[in-house]
Amino acid sequence: MGLGGSGPTHNYSRPMRIVVLTGAGISAESGVPTFRDSDGLWEGHHVEEVATPEGYDADPVLVHEFYDARRRALQKVEPNPAHDALARLEQAVGEDLVVVTQNIDDLHERAGSHHVVHMHGELLSALCRACGSRHCWDGDLSGRPACPGCGVRELRPDVVWFGEMPHEMERIYRAIDDADLFVSVGTSGAVYPAAGFVIEARAHGVQTLELNLEPSEGTAFFDEARHGRAGVLVPAWVNELLTRL
Ligand SMILES: [Zn+2]
Repeated sequence: MGLGGSGPTHNYSRPMRIVVLTGAGISAESGVPTFRDSDGLWEGHHVEEVATPEGYDADPVLVHEFYDARRRALQKVEPNPAHDALARLEQAVGEDLVVVTQNIDDLHERAGSHHVVHMHGELLSALCRACGSRHCWDGDLSGRPACPGCGVRELRPDVVWFGEMPHEMERIYRAIDDADLFVSVGTSGAVYPAAGFVIEARAHGVQTLELNLEPSEGTAFFDEARHGRAGVLVPAWVNELLTRL
């Protein structure tokens, strides 16, 4: 099965550069609950309560306890074959693969991926509202611990909330513009700016492939779309690619 579509044929005389965008669908197959699973509620909470700066200002204790629970729940989930396959692809092509994830869990890293851009931040990081520093964090924040950098007790979850700017957008767009292939895995195609990455890729002549449980809202923009579980589709695609490289 080829990549098909109307994109340019890849020139095999140089390494193939690949950007893979991953979303909630890949984590969901590891059992990570997402707010999209439950009709706008995320573990029983409205996203406005737990995923906006206004929600945090209104009830920081609730928000801390919510993310503390999500952080602890990471210990109960494992990477699945889709995460494993992307780590295997990185082993083969090194820095020519960049994984851009919308997910705040650490499942890509635990599978063995190193070049991961967390555009929506990370559960295992704390951001100081006083000094702006970031710290690896695997404990709770609800007890208001002091910032290791400045000592002020203003650490918040280092996740990008609705209304906040995603991380590393310049780096992401540069990687997409320079890529040969853009692959979207387990994303709804509904949340911008990630939903616009396929348009950016097409504008730069980058081949595009969607791997998703069902057609995403942006599925028509992809050169090729395959639908099914990420844990099946991603390993199959990686195997296919590795035989061609
Ligand atoms: Zn600080």
